[in-house]
Amino acid sequence: MLTPDDNALQAVRRRHELRVLEALVTHGHRTRRDLEGDTKLSRTTLSAIVGDLRQRGVLTEKDQLLHAVGRNGRPTKVLSLNPNAGAAVGMELGRRRISISVTGFDGSTVTHEHREVSSTLKLAPKVGLAAELLEELIDSGRISPATVVGTGIGIASRHANPASLWDGPERQEDPQGASLDPIRKLLPAPLMWDNNIRLAAMSYCKSKENLLYVVLSAGISSAIISNGTLLRGGHGIAGELGHISVDFTGPACWCGRHGCLESFINEANVLAESARRGQAFATIQAMAEAAAAGDGIAINVVAWAGELLARALVAACVLIDPTRVVIAGDLSQFGEPLLEPVRRALAEQNLELAPRSTDISAAPFAPTAGSDGAAQMALKHWGLTAAN
Ligand SMILES: [Zn+2]
Repeated sequence: MLTPDDNALQAVRRRHELRVLEALVTHGHRTRRDLEGDTKLSRTTLSAIVGDLRQRGVLTEKDQLLHAVGRNGRPTKVLSLNPNAGAAVGMELGRRRISISVTGFDGSTVTHEHREVSSTLKLAPKVGLAAELLEELIDSGRISPATVVGTGIGIASRHANPASLWDGPERQEDPQGASLDPIRKLLPAPLMWDNNIRLAAMSYCKSKENLLYVVLSAGISSAIISNGTLLRGGHGIAGELGHISVDFTGPACWCGRHGCLESFINEANVLAESARRGQAFATIQAMAEAAAAGDGIAINVVAWAGELLARALVAACVLIDPTRVVIAGDLSQFGEPLLEPVRRALAEQNLELAPRSTDISAAPFAPTAGSDGAAQMALKHWGLTAAN
């Protein structure tokens, strides 16, 4: 059992460790003397941390001739991060899928794996299945828990309390309906979780980007990244684009408002709208193919959906001013005919405050976007992002 003092000591040690890793991420390779300057740690403390990181396989130390130093041309020992070591593990416990990604210190993907699960499965058994998959990856050597400095988990239909994020000795409170301890047991590094769509957005985010990520499927989810950082909001539910009203006299939504975008633009209602107009389709894919082949009703329904989407997106873009909007999810298969009304509506909204251009695109389906993004979030949260 860890006492509060043990926890506090561990937290201090971890902060020191992150300082060493951050210096190596920033500079590539460093001598021990460089690291003393970078981290302001004493030689003894640094030596203990470097020793531990080397033993865990996070760092390698090699003799290298440093031309600039040139101490009689003698080789100097140089430390660098092991490029094959997984720095962060990302997991997605999605509605229909569990995926795991491992990201290296340079942000590149080291490995990933995913499994389809039933959409009726509750969160606790999903955590159990994710732990089983994780254990398989550890047993086969694809994940080495000792090199992992942080874990990120994206969970469908759950939002983290912004007042409880993993920042120090206090661990984050678990999502409603399940304990994450089976995963903590396998990966002792600090773990942070949040909504899966929010973390998936991180996998599309370039550097310090301002990005609005929108998923159109059975419902609507969206995530806002402001200057490279996830916007969580005061209550943890920022980004509810689906509950922006596009018609105040429209149908009542479960959220208590009227005419919410999500009441119109969801898979079931888009298919129903087409059927009401005289052309039934079994799937969104069939409808998208028919629209591409020139089916008049399918084309009109996609245009109708695009006009409604444009109303909500214009409101969101006026407010948060993203430089890029990425549309994903099943309905993104409609492609250009869905996006065109959005582009047109945004082009008409020139505020004349500053020249503005917003790039709008559809994202191809990527089964590991959620876990890739969760790993990116973990790296970023703990300050280790070479690419940025
Ligand atoms: Zn609503």
